[in-house]
Amino acid sequence: MNYSSAFIPTLREVPADAVIASHRLMFRAGLLRKLANGLFTYLPLGLRAFRKVERIIREEMDAVGALEIKPTVVVPGELWKESGRWDSMGDSMLRVKNRLDNDFVVSPTAEEAFTATVRDELSSYRQLPLKLYQINTKFRDEIRPRYGVMRGREFIMKDAYSWHTDDKSLDETYQAMGRAYRRIFKRCGLSVIPVKADSGTMGGSGSEEFMVESEIGDNTLILCKKCGYAANVEKASCKDDFTPQPSVEAAKAAAANTPSIEKIDTPNVKTIEELCAFLKTAPQSFIKTLIYRAVNVELDLSSAPGCANLEQKKPSPDAPAVYPQVFFAVAIRGDLDVNEVKLASVLKASEVSLAADTDVTRLTNAPVGFAGPVGLASLPLIVDHTVTGMNDAVTGALAKDLHYKHAAYGRDFEGWAIAGLTSVDIRTVKAGDTCSQCGGELYTKMGNELGHIFKLGYKYTRAMNVTYLDENGKTQMPTMGCYGIGVDRTLASVIEEHHDEAGIIWPASVAPYHVIIVPIKYDGAVKEAADNLTGELTKAGIEVLLDDRNERPGVKFNDADLTGIPWRVVIGDKGLSQSPAQVEIKRRSEKDNRTIDLDRAASELADKISEELESYL
Ligand code: ATP
Ligand code: MG
Repeated sequence: MNYSSAFIPTLREVPADAVIASHRLMFRAGLLRKLANGLFTYLPLGLRAFRKVERIIREEMDAVGALEIKPTVVVPGELWKESGRWDSMGDSMLRVKNRLDNDFVVSPTAEEAFTATVRDELSSYRQLPLKLYQINTKFRDEIRPRYGVMRGREFIMKDAYSWHTDDKSLDETYQAMGRAYRRIFKRCGLSVIPVKADSGTMGGSGSEEFMVESEIGDNTLILCKKCGYAANVEKASCKDDFTPQPSVEAAKAAAANTPSIEKIDTPNVKTIEELCAFLKTAPQSFIKTLIYRAVNVELDLSSAPGCANLEQKKPSPDAPAVYPQVFFAVAIRGDLDVNEVKLASVLKASEVSLAADTDVTRLTNAPVGFAGPVGLASLPLIVDHTVTGMNDAVTGALAKDLHYKHAAYGRDFEGWAIAGLTSVDIRTVKAGDTCSQCGGELYTKMGNELGHIFKLGYKYTRAMNVTYLDENGKTQMPTMGCYGIGVDRTLASVIEEHHDEAGIIWPASVAPYHVIIVPIKYDGAVKEAADNLTGELTKAGIEVLLDDRNERPGVKFNDADLTGIPWRVVIGDKGLSQSPAQVEIKRRSEKDNRTIDLDRAASELADKISEELESYL
């Protein structure tokens, strides 16, 4: 391809809103332009790199036996009503109506579309396992699109879905997908950190996210210095830093020597910091009690305090009944934070959030800041494990300006047991906590999610009534997995990991071209040599960009660095006049260049490039 006709509008200026390297460089190197907030056009050079990422993903999906299909991006709203997600998806889902006033969804993800397709075709266990995927447009009306294509409104996702007769088969595919993901990111030249992730209310044991370290990442990763434990903070657990009590009775016995609980005046003291200063104690000796509102709770609450008259509803005809709204009190040690994802999972809720002040006042009969577990009868109390180790604590006394001291778990209060468990793990793990696997010290990094694999279980097959006949002719429901990768975000992350001040440094596997040939002046013998070399390289399967522009060499060199083509060949009269004729080759990732015989250049470059491509396999 000749540069002069390749439509590569490079820029000196950096777009004002571009704060990260990939965003800046995708604009500056002429890969991308903006149509509107979160909506972009890939220009030819950008699209070439994008297609390379797609191709790698496609090859690896095909290698694990997934089959590519292509549903439409616009799908009937009916399917989303069947799955129950028409109501739960919120405003990020773009809903449209056609001229007949029918509802449609512009796919933010495609569990419904795939499940509906499979439902119509699946009849026998012999068709399972079935693995399908697409590489297709998604639309999410993100509140804050940012960082260029890292978080756009429209983007391309590779999403795969699988259906199985049993958990063992699901696990095999899940593991194979995990291995395929590791290969995909390695082939793109990316260092990913696979982390354990939350599997939400669906239960099931498996969910893994593929993260890249990133200052702008919105995920906190909890990592162990010693054993390699890696988890999203949403899922992470740590070793107890307190003496766990095996039962409520044991905790009560442990409080035998604690003085009786006692009310104390704490005038104008609201926050934990103020209370610690007032009582001269540490936050660790305080029991923090927070009131949460949980939405669509699937727990059985018939025995729970304050829940006798709560109404239940079914999100879809075949789904289990849920409580649309339930308030819970949550007690945790004062120095810790509640992990809302863990809490939602314990409560089998689709969402949890702190209750509004008015609800707190109504439910605790006290102003905000004075909730406590002792004597709280109006709502179920969920106790974090850490509280079970507290037998002489300070806590709110459910009245203005009053706290208790000498409060003891087991003696003065206990939690509402969820499925027989009197306490649960809902603490947020933080740097410095102890690894539960090896005792090492945990630390944190910020990460950006590139991909996610997930055991879904029966959520969609149940809601959308997907069945097959087993070998005994009995009707069964398949279990399901889903596996997503953001193609745009992966491409942007490659640039984040591979660039310098001068521009992009593409790994050969995703480079828009492998070689850029820069004739000092595209004329006479130089032109002839450049054209011949282009021909030879192209014949060898190497993708060449020939800078035929009538520009100063400095401009061409700057653009070659900016666009990041892995190999640069400079051809000038001086080199050609030597015997044998010489050209200069330089790897974009290295500082120094080297002079080689012109007639050896093509084979040398072809070897180097295939060497690099193979190194990723
Ligand atoms: P995030 O937490 O970043 O919003 P998500 O967990 O909602 O992502 P998934 O539903 O798991 O995303 O989608 C699979 C993949 O799609 C993500 O891992 C990510 O690579 C990509 N993706 C999701 N949202 C966007 C977006 N707005 N722009 C670009 N890529 C996205
Ligand atoms: Mg995700």
